[in-house]
Amino acid sequence: MTAIRLDGVSKVFEGEHLAVDELSLDVADGEFMVLLGPSGCGKTTLLRMIAGLERVTAGEVWFGRTNGTRLPPKDRQVAMVFQTGALYPNRTVRENIMFPLQIAGQDDHDASSTAAGLAQILSIGSVLDRMPRTLSGGQRQRVAIGRALVRRPNVFLLDEPLSNLDATMRTELRQEIGAMTRDLNVTTLYVTHDQVEALTLADRIAVMRDGRIEDVGTPAQVYNDPATAFVAGFLGAPRINLLSATVRVTAHHRVALDFGAQSIGLDPSDRRSLILRHHDGVQVIVGARSNAFRVITNEDVANQLTGTLRAFEFHGQQSIAFVECGIEAVNPDQVGQPRPMHAVSPQDMMAPASLLTRVLSRIRSGR
Ligand code: ATP
Repeated sequence: MTAIRLDGVSKVFEGEHLAVDELSLDVADGEFMVLLGPSGCGKTTLLRMIAGLERVTAGEVWFGRTNGTRLPPKDRQVAMVFQTGALYPNRTVRENIMFPLQIAGQDDHDASSTAAGLAQILSIGSVLDRMPRTLSGGQRQRVAIGRALVRRPNVFLLDEPLSNLDATMRTELRQEIGAMTRDLNVTTLYVTHDQVEALTLADRIAVMRDGRIEDVGTPAQVYNDPATAFVAGFLGAPRINLLSATVRVTAHHRVALDFGAQSIGLDPSDRRSLILRHHDGVQVIVGARSNAFRVITNEDVANQLTGTLRAFEFHGQQSIAFVECGIEAVNPDQVGQPRPMHAVSPQDMMAPASLLTRVLSRIRSGR
């Protein structure tokens, strides 16, 4: 087992393209860390630098107490699985899995029985003597994982290993990967742009954007208390509502959020109300997930937003109403780097569920 420390790591590709930008991250011994981010934000490049497949332009990669920045891949005790695990086409499943052990000098009998044991754990025990071309996509990925883990690496890197599988297979293999890495207690870095995979698998999630890490925390932390508007917008479906507002402080330090067309008052005992009462006139972004709203019909209830129902979608367990309230929405992709405003940290502005749980929305649907 090994902790990983990335210290100011950068990667500049030819043509001066900065793919990873002075990134620092600590992954604890045995931790399952998910790197989550949109396409092109540098996730794969970062993984390849840890594996030694890509040279680091600046900064250092540490494995425990060893500076591994310049170590060749074979000396890193790192195993990696890609989107489509490449197998040896002319070797059976058993031969594919046992091959790394044979290379390391283990005798065939021991290597074969180790491969068979691992295949059982990965639910491919029944296809041990088949050739890769006869396997399903999910089975092939299992073989690739088996081959990567057979030498008990210190660090396990997975680059979107489920992206080519169908939904059922994804869920199944996702659960198995989670269980297996925990059993083996191997330090794991898992790249994905699928937020469900990130939220369900991770001990901690690092959200990347433009070669940098924008937020790191447990799934609950990054979901409930995202560091930036971008992170808030990236996690959660349906997407969080980000609304532009001006803080208005009225008599007796009552705080209202003025959305232009409409406004709502905050509960005076709300933590955010206590902070915002010193910031009259300040522009803020209010984050509110859809489950923070209630549909009401009672005209007398205070703090309601009024809108027009634009669409209504049935999703099985839930239904989603899209309501036009005449309030300017903020596009999280357009919001720049986090910028604390007047000692109000972005976290304080972005705890969406608690911020607006007391806000009731009223849909004027005409019904
Ligand atoms: P995806 O989710 O689409 O796989 P990613 O987050 O893994 O994306 P990377 O593959 O790491 O992103 O790429 C980061 C940036 O670096 C991209 O702009 C990409 O075009 C660029 N890049 C990656 N590899 C190279 C290369 N060998 N030469 C030049 N640019 C590269």
